[in-house]
Amino acid sequence: MDIALYERLFRSVLFPAYETLVRRRATASHIAEYDANQWLSADALAALQLSKLNTLLAHCWEHVPFLQSHWRGAGCVPGELRHVSELARYPTLTKTHISANYDGMTATPWRGRTLSKVTGGSTGDPFRFEYTMDVYARRTAIMWRGYGWGGAGLGARTAYLWGTGLRSGGWGGLKDRLFHGAFNRHFFDAFSLSGSNIDRQIDEIFQYRPRAVVGYVAPVALVARRMIETGRTLSGVRGVLTGAEALFEPERRDIEKAFGCPVFDTYGSREVMLMASECERHEGRHVNADHLVLETLGADGLPTGPGESGDVALTDLHNFGMPMVRYLNGDRATYSRMKCSCGRGLPLLASIDGRVLDLIKTLDGRLVPGEFFVASMLDSPDVKQWQVVQTAVDCVQLRLVVPTPWTPERRSKMAAKLQATVGAAMRVEIVEVEAIATTASGKRRLTISMANVEMAG
Ligand SMILES: [Zn+2]
Repeated sequence: MDIALYERLFRSVLFPAYETLVRRRATASHIAEYDANQWLSADALAALQLSKLNTLLAHCWEHVPFLQSHWRGAGCVPGELRHVSELARYPTLTKTHISANYDGMTATPWRGRTLSKVTGGSTGDPFRFEYTMDVYARRTAIMWRGYGWGGAGLGARTAYLWGTGLRSGGWGGLKDRLFHGAFNRHFFDAFSLSGSNIDRQIDEIFQYRPRAVVGYVAPVALVARRMIETGRTLSGVRGVLTGAEALFEPERRDIEKAFGCPVFDTYGSREVMLMASECERHEGRHVNADHLVLETLGADGLPTGPGESGDVALTDLHNFGMPMVRYLNGDRATYSRMKCSCGRGLPLLASIDGRVLDLIKTLDGRLVPGEFFVASMLDSPDVKQWQVVQTAVDCVQLRLVVPTPWTPERRSKMAAKLQATVGAAMRVEIVEVEAIATTASGKRRLTISMANVEMAG
């Protein structure tokens, strides 16, 4: 079937039928709502955001015991806000607040009916939280809106350079292939790139003939540089969407050259999924203000103005199961002074100081993206902080800050997991430390390669 025809059919018939009739989720109607919202004026969007925020705050005052005491302790009282900026009167919320008051953070009517998820967080501190099926459907809808701006919307033939997490064989593997096949997307394993198989991975991407590419910054840039070196260009791609790591100009330039199309940077996290993304004008990243509140706070705790960097505080407007209100996710970002020329009323972020992840280059030529280690740490929620440092060409060291020392069994299990990916020629060391140093700008580097080893301290 013609690719464009399939895309239209999937978007208008197959996906809505699957979500509504099979999964019984309102994703399709959420997509329609968000698609319409993007063209509202800035004033209309602010009014919509305020109304959603007041609904959420009223829900928390009634049903979320920890937030009630947290807020009363800060001198807050129930009552409607007249402007979203008045949210700044409420105290912020940290990972520690959530972990230490888990039951009190879960809304009483939702207890036992939420889904839970573990995240490495933007700063690498693993932690658990709850969310509802409805907010999942909304987050999916918001993701498709942002991805659509970059040509990777619902049903678009898209190559994902991602950690796959797919089952490889049997009935589960077949189901995964059918599911992603219907969505018209194919996952290429970004965790198994190496000097020897990179050309084969590029061949496979060429054979797939994607209309869009989505991936972590480092592996996509690596593939792009190899394409430039070998004089290969891919035609027919509408956009390359990058995420999960900070995107710098040299990477953007290389990716655009190799794929012959614009790069659309996105800003997301496991806690709330897509927060902001670039539209076709590339004048900044549009914040999904009809779905969440993203504040940037200065050292004094007050919101920073446009052009001033600040700590990101997030309020997800639809997670009524475990409402995170003014949640500090560990990133820093800067609002733009400009309005986007595309006409969308959604405000713009000028920059995001996300995490910086180096690729680790192993002795046998493997290139392991930092995201591999982020994924490896997900099932270790007791770890307070961690960092992977390549201390020598043949040695990778995992540094951990843990409340109680790991048992020898646990250490060898983790070592075996890392060894399988970095190869037998590398030494793997697991070291418990008091704290992980941050860079001068206050960021914590989660992975540090040989090239940057002098920064490891
Ligand atoms: Zn725009």
